[in-house]
Amino acid sequence: MIVIGGGIAGCSAAYYLSRQGRSVLLIERDAVAAHASGFAFGVLLPRLFDDPSDPADELTRLSLELHREISDELSEGGQPLRRDKASVLLALSEASAEQYRQLYRSRSSLLGDVRWLEYGELSHIEARIAPEIPGGLYLGDAAEISPSQFTNALWAAAESQGARLVNADVESISGGADGVTVTAGDAEYSAARAIVAAGPWTSHLLETAGATVPVEPLKGQIVRLNAPVPEMKVSLWWDADYAGSKPDGLLWCGTTEERVGFDEETTDSARDGILASARQVLPFLADAEVVTQTACLRPVSADGLPIVGAIAGNESIIVATGGGRNGIVLGPALGKVAADLSIDADPGIDAGFLSPSRFSA
Ligand SMILES: Cc1cc2nc3c(=O)[nH]c(=O)nc-3n(C[C@H](O)[C@H](O)[C@H](O)COP(=O)(O)OP(=O)(O)OC[C@H]3O[C@@H](n4cnc5c(N)ncnc54)[C@H](O)[C@@H]3O)c2cc1C
Repeated sequence: MIVIGGGIAGCSAAYYLSRQGRSVLLIERDAVAAHASGFAFGVLLPRLFDDPSDPADELTRLSLELHREISDELSEGGQPLRRDKASVLLALSEASAEQYRQLYRSRSSLLGDVRWLEYGELSHIEARIAPEIPGGLYLGDAAEISPSQFTNALWAAAESQGARLVNADVESISGGADGVTVTAGDAEYSAARAIVAAGPWTSHLLETAGATVPVEPLKGQIVRLNAPVPEMKVSLWWDADYAGSKPDGLLWCGTTEERVGFDEETTDSARDGILASARQVLPFLADAEVVTQTACLRPVSADGLPIVGAIAGNESIIVATGGGRNGIVLGPALGKVAADLSIDADPGIDAGFLSPSRFSA
């Protein structure tokens, strides 16, 4: 089997296939976790509700279970891959506080350890939150990983199970009933099937196979600050932004949503915007020094849903992408479902709604 793309989706596929004794060739043009899967914030937010009407609900549930299993399996004896760490969704206005309070009052529909905290209670957890903030929804079941460490651990496990890595830039894919051929420079690689997990670059690759699967890059930036101690015990979320202390000793703040094509450069305007937003919520960051800034691209499909399955009319090319802002959460399930489909095994969930063929109707 060929897997294209050494992000979390591709490394998960390689891990699950090699675990079953399948031969796997991972083709990655840069390095494992060299793009979004190496630079994301790394929160695993729990599902707030059961929502059967959400086509990604089952995939998300499966992926959160797989995250736990993978962390248990691959952390053994080494560094823990995952740490339980609560997140708080802050309400910045009285109107949104009231919405959260109502949600909490109807808590029978909520899943797990979810609590509404008025500012007074919230300040016991993190005293440095701006007092103007009315409160927040506490998600006690959240966890965090280092996406880079996790993706590399998946790849290390796949490699120890026999998977091989080729460092090459795939230019084209062609496939049919007899199998798949992938061209990278002067080399050609053949296999029964290929999994394309090339993140936001997936569309271009699939075009060479004659398939239209719309995935676009959505750039996001993070600044890492040398913030005053102590570290924050919870991560905080508001609007599209967030802040949290990380095991590297820095406080990470994000983010942006920029439609600027495949540009992965950091910008001063993004840094300033992220800092202004974070300082509004956490005034103690006023003098915190920026240690580093990162930018990377989320793969976002045309309808915002993940994509997993064979391309229309061609079972030999299977796609695993479209995780968007949840791509770290969804990575293990995208990889596992793609791996199962590639060997005609039952993925255990109905992923039909997420098939790339929905774009060819
Ligand atoms: C700032 C930011 C913060 C984020 N935080 C979170 C978070 O907290 N939680 C969460 O769930 N998600 C988060 N995400 C989203 C998440 O990072 C992505 O959705 C996820 O990493 C995508 O993984 P992937 O494997 O699909 O793609 P990628 O990580 O992009 O991997 C694709 C790989 O394919 C390779 N490739 C592409 N084309 C070719 C080719 N032609 N030949 C060979 N190789 C090729 C690339 O080099 C790349 O390594 C965040 C994203 C950003 C930008």
